[in-house]
This record gives sequence, C-alpha cells and structure tokens, in this order.
Amino acid sequence: MIAALLMAAALAATLLPASVRPSTAPALSAGAAPRPRSRRAQGERERDPPFALSVGARSERKRDPPFALSVGARSAPKSKGAEPVPEQVDVVHALRLLADEDVDGARAVAEPLLAKHPGDPGAKLAVGVLRLFEQRYDEAVSLIESAGAGEPASYLALARAAREVTKGHVRSESEHFVVSHPPGKDEVLVPYLVDTLERQRDALERALGYAPPGKLTVEIVNDVKELARVTTLTEAEIRTSGTVAVCKFNKLMLLSPKALLKGYDWQDTAAHEYTHLVLTRKSRNEAPIWLQEGLAKWFEDDWRGGGEPLSPVSAALVKDAVQKGTLVTFDEMHPSLAKLPSQERAALAYAEVVLAVEKMVQLAGPAVLGKVLDLEARGKDAKDAVATALGMPFDSFLETWKRHMVARPLPKGGDHELRKLRFKDDPKQGGAWAEWAEIPDEKARGFARLGEVMRARGRWSAARVEYGKAFERVGARVPILSDQYALAALQTGADDVAAKVLAEALSWNPDHPALHVHLARLLVKRQDWKAARDHLLLANRQDPFDPEIHAGLAKALAALGDPGGASREERFGRILLPEGHR
Ligand SMILES: [Zn+2]
Repeated sequence: MIAALLMAAALAATLLPASVRPSTAPALSAGAAPRPRSRRAQGERERDPPFALSVGARSERKRDPPFALSVGARSAPKSKGAEPVPEQVDVVHALRLLADEDVDGARAVAEPLLAKHPGDPGAKLAVGVLRLFEQRYDEAVSLIESAGAGEPASYLALARAAREVTKGHVRSESEHFVVSHPPGKDEVLVPYLVDTLERQRDALERALGYAPPGKLTVEIVNDVKELARVTTLTEAEIRTSGTVAVCKFNKLMLLSPKALLKGYDWQDTAAHEYTHLVLTRKSRNEAPIWLQEGLAKWFEDDWRGGGEPLSPVSAALVKDAVQKGTLVTFDEMHPSLAKLPSQERAALAYAEVVLAVEKMVQLAGPAVLGKVLDLEARGKDAKDAVATALGMPFDSFLETWKRHMVARPLPKGGDHELRKLRFKDDPKQGGAWAEWAEIPDEKARGFARLGEVMRARGRWSAARVEYGKAFERVGARVPILSDQYALAALQTGADDVAAKVLAEALSWNPDHPALHVHLARLLVKRQDWKAARDHLLLANRQDPFDPEIHAGLAKALAALGDPGGASREERFGRILLPEGHR
C-alpha cells in the first residue's frame, strides 16, 4: 500500500506536464501520505484532474492491485495548462494497459512513442515499465532510472528486486512457458511444472474458448523474503494468508516447495495462478475478486481431470461459518485474499466462492462461466453478467448460493482440522510433536508415545503393537499415527497390515505425501509398478524434494518401459540427496 502510494508520487513527478509541475512538491507529499485505499479511490473521483489520472484505479477496486498508479496532478493549477500533450496521454494510457495486464496493448502504444521521442522521460518510463512486464529487467531498470521517476518503492524498486532475485536463474522453455528457477534442487520441478501448465492451458481453452498466445514466464523463488520482494506483498501478509504464488506483472511467481516444511500442492497452485492470468485476459480484467478466485479455484485441478472442488477442511469451514454467521463477505475479500487476517479466513473465502461457481454450473451448465466473462469483457458489471448468463436476478442467485452452502454434503474427513501451511523459517511453527497432538484421545496418545519410544530403540515389533493399540482407538484419520503404524508393520513383514492401514489413511487424507511414499515402497516391493508410479506422482504433487519419490519413480518408469524418464528421475534423486550421500 505504501509502496503504491510512493509509486504514485514518483509517477506524478514524472508525468506532470512541465508547464504544471509544481516547483516544490506539496501534491507529491500529500500523495505519499498513507491513506486507506478505499478513501483514496473515492477522493480521486471527486476531483477534476487535468488529465486521465487514476491509472489502475479500476483494477484496484477489484483485487490485489497491479498498482495504485494515481498519477496525481491533483494540485496542478488548472489555469496553467489543463490540456495534456498527446505523449503524456499515451504514457498514461500505456501504464493503464499494463495495470490491466494488457502487455500487447501497452507495447503497441509505448514502443512507437519511445521511437519517436527517445529522450522523453514519459516515453522512457512507459517502455521501462513495459520491460518489467517482459521480464527484461536490466533494460527496465536503466530506462526507468533515466526517466527520473525516482525512488523509493516504485516500479524501479520492483524491477531492481526482480533483477536481483532472478540473477543466476536457470531458464527452461516449453511451447507456451518459460520457467526461470534458482540453480540446484528446483530443477526437479521443471518437467512437472511445464506439463501441468501446458495441460491447464489446454483445459482452459476447451472450457473458455480462449488461450493466451505467446509464452508466459514462471519465476520460482527460494523463500518468503524473495516472494515478498517480487510481488510487493509483505512477508507478514504472505505468512498470515499462506500465499505461495502470485500471478501479476505478466508472470507467475511461485514459492519453491522447499520453503515449506512439508511442501504444498504446488502443481495445483501453479495451475490456479495461470488460470487467473487467462481469466484476466478473457474478461479484460473486469472480473471482481470473488469471481476471479471462485473460477481459479474451480479450474485449478482441471489439468489432472478435475474432481471435488472442495477439500474436507474447507467444506467444514463453510458449514461452521454459515452456522455462526461468520462468512467472509465480498467486501472483505477486497483487494486480495492474500490480505485476509488468517489462513482459516482465506481458506473459508476460497471455499465460499468456489461454491458460488459450482452453483452457477449446476444451474446453467459449464458454458455459463465463459459467458459471464464475455459479458464482463463487454462492459457489463459482474452482477449483471451473472444475472444475464443465469437468467435470474443476482439477489436470487445469492440466495440460492447461500442455501447451497448449507445443504451441500461434506466430503469425507470434513470434520478434520485445518492443517496450516508451515513455513520452514517460521519460529511459530509447532515443532516435532505438533502432529501427534492431533490424536484426539489421551489413551491413544499414550500408546502412540510408547510406540515412538520403541521405534527409537529399533524395537519394531513392540512399536507395531503400541501403534496398533492407538490406531485401534482413533482409526485412520490421524496421518502421522497411521503412517508410523504402517512403517512398523512394513519393518516386521506385516505387509498386508501396512497396505490396509495406508489405504484407509489415504481415504481420510488423500494428499498426505508420506502415506503415498510408504504405500509406494510396498508396491515397488510387490513390483506393482503402475500403482507405485501413481502414488509417487501424488506424493510429488505435495513434497517434490523427497529423494525417495524420485528414486522410486526411476525404478517404476524403467520397469514401465520409459528409460528416458527413468534416467531423469535417477538424476533428480541424486540432486536431492543430502550433501555427502551423492
Ligand atoms: Zn487465486
């Protein structure tokens, strides 16, 4: 927010026509004072600026803003030349197009401008910011610097941060994507990431009749600090909301799963963010946040054939919030779900909006979604667009949606607790025993602890007996207990017990990577290669830096007649082994 305001000040300094540029800068310091975003947008509309000044204000109302570029000449004296010169109109126009992520449109305006006026600060700024959106950071930095737009916290700071964070990155290209990643471990993500995104692109083209031309850049960053620098979110916002990826500035920025203790669903996340980009283009950046997020969530698993859009946890959150009257409102969702006060609120908001989309599809079929976006692109307000596409008043739709949230049956495991994303460098994360605390029954916890003691001494049979007593009491829903019980069973030759426990545990926690890896261990032993591969790929979707996943895939792929894949996975397995074990 402050970044955006300082940015406004910096741009105002650049873009004011020379004739109205105040010699001292009272307007700029006013612009730099942090004020609530909503008030600011109103304030701008009340005034009568000398030229089109609220670049990006439209987007700002809707979502995490591409930037609040209020190129604010608000105190510029009207008497001294209210007429803008054509170049400045073009500069503002180009910046506004970029704020709406229309890079091709901006290029068409900005490039000729700079060609015609190579020394003009406004033209340099416009092309400099365009270069930022093209990931040509060196040029972006030097053009914006020479435009004299100033510092701190502007597009210039952002271009410098992007240049620094991506310095030394390795690049890898597919038909429609360029992946830029830190050298080392992250290489193991690339083939999976590219496959996911290409599939998602196809799926969205089928569903919405549109796919962006050209290649999109995906930048993988090492940690929360880097993600903050390249997205303009704060570290606190990222941690609080659990944000792991952002699509903005014409690129997709993805936090490496290595920054989280147990990884995260990074392939679905990449597909989700890419969906945002497609939606933004298709709707001309006119979809409000609830619809953007609802659709991104709805489509995020289409690369793998789609399925249940609601996790058990989020389904439970919705039910609870409906009963307590604590649903996240559309207003609270602005400007971004990344700014909600907790991961629970963010998860709840996602669940609400995806249920709105689910209801729309139930009412009018899947084609309704593309129709809504088209209507918005043609200038219809979201409410009107939804009402028109559904053929019912928007208020009636809201009522129907609310009833849907109450009536929809919970998926299995819906009463299970929300598992927070745990960032590796977060001192508040719960420690090794946090997961065992999930066991709801004190006696069972006692048996489990005894099992742990036996396991630590290598007494696997005794460990299996104790874990088994705990399992007997609480069943398969606590993943760490099921997992340890199954491991002890595997160690003591009780393969059938292990297989049964793991399968049951996965029915409660279908995404838990260790359960998949350990089941795959058993399947490799049984030479059931296809099933082994499938479970390893499921684990990889969550925790791709576990070397056992890749070593297992190497074996399975070799057995399934894919020597290329096998040797790649073997190499990945080696890359991931701890130092000294390679
Ligand atoms: Zn999203």
